[in-house]
Amino acid sequence: MTKKSYKTNTICTHAGELKDEQFKGAVSPIYLSSSYEFMDVDTKRYPRYFNTPNQEALSKKIAALEHTQAAMIFSSGMAAISNVLLTFLKSGDHIVLQNDIYGGTRHLVESQFHRYNIEYSFTDGLEASDFKKAIQPNTKLIYIETPSNPLLKIVDLKAIAKLAKSKQILTVIDNTFASPILQQPIGFGIDIVVHSATKYLGGHSDLCAGAVATSQAYIDAIWKMAITTGGNLSDFTIWMLERSIKTLGIRVKAQTKNAKKIANYLNKHHAITKVHYPGLKTHPDYKLAKQQMRGFGAMLSFEVKKDINVKTFFKALNLIKPSMSLAGVESTMLLPSETSHALLSPEDRITQGITDSLIRFSVGIEDIKDIVEDIEQAITIAAVR
Ligand SMILES: *Cc1c(COP(=O)(O)O)cnc(C)c1O
Repeated sequence: MTKKSYKTNTICTHAGELKDEQFKGAVSPIYLSSSYEFMDVDTKRYPRYFNTPNQEALSKKIAALEHTQAAMIFSSGMAAISNVLLTFLKSGDHIVLQNDIYGGTRHLVESQFHRYNIEYSFTDGLEASDFKKAIQPNTKLIYIETPSNPLLKIVDLKAIAKLAKSKQILTVIDNTFASPILQQPIGFGIDIVVHSATKYLGGHSDLCAGAVATSQAYIDAIWKMAITTGGNLSDFTIWMLERSIKTLGIRVKAQTKNAKKIANYLNKHHAITKVHYPGLKTHPDYKLAKQQMRGFGAMLSFEVKKDINVKTFFKALNLIKPSMSLAGVESTMLLPSETSHALLSPEDRITQGITDSLIRFSVGIEDIKDIVEDIEQAITIAAVR
């Protein structure tokens, strides 16, 4: 790749790829060496230095997708997130976090930060004014996630970036749900993007990985932390992730197309009381989503009527898999109240809008007719007579 202005699917397929000079093979070779010829102490090549040929190549692909100067690949989304937070926060600092972030991130903050004397606040809501209210004189970082899980609420990227810049606060976004295909937060002034690459970037429910994309200067700072904490991804998995991202653009597009149709179908369904999908005109953040996303994504959630037995519904599904994870090419569903949000108190769940009949749906690439038929037959079986 030499031309600078390639379009998204071309970047997915070709950015950062390694040339097989020896045999002229079509795809990047895998370099598994954990020992390379010694150059000097600062530039030695070593997996935990995040600079093996495959690590460097894939980092370039992710940076190209997120329109950043640089990127780093980690062994999981949480490895990426924890390394970023530990790089930019120190004893005495304060962080403002969106109230409905990923459970693992919340757990990291609530279970560990007091040990490092790092203060934190969760916002009351998702408006820029909610974030402003939570800022203190020692606030160093604002952490957001949009669309949010599982209610697909949208945070205003431009407004948050503007607020943070006016107070010299760093902004970090978890861009997992949108993927760089639908949302590139750097263009709106957000400083650092993190991903659970286990989800859309991987896309086949067969690998665990994380990524960070930002300026070279911030990557240099994160790198200094990461080479001491570890958390690099094996070159085998890096190679799989590189292969996965080649189809990221077409996968996300197909999934998004399916999700939009399913959202409309569920929205009209007699057994469904509510559908949360930013692509529905009735969604409170529809306009905002349209402004900052290039598509509304393939995640949605919905609530079933009281006379549908939710447990029976799950058991009756034939095609759609009940699954904790998301974003694979296969359609999956889960009950947030019993899985991702099970550790919250019932009161906290209610304040966050997580009812017992709320179902989260990660829409896959199957034929829409088959997905709809599966939901239809499961609802019939689960109807309490
Ligand atoms: C899964 C997920 C994570 C954590 O990623 P892992 O790869 O499981 O460590 C972080 N954020 C979001 C939004 C996720 O869905």
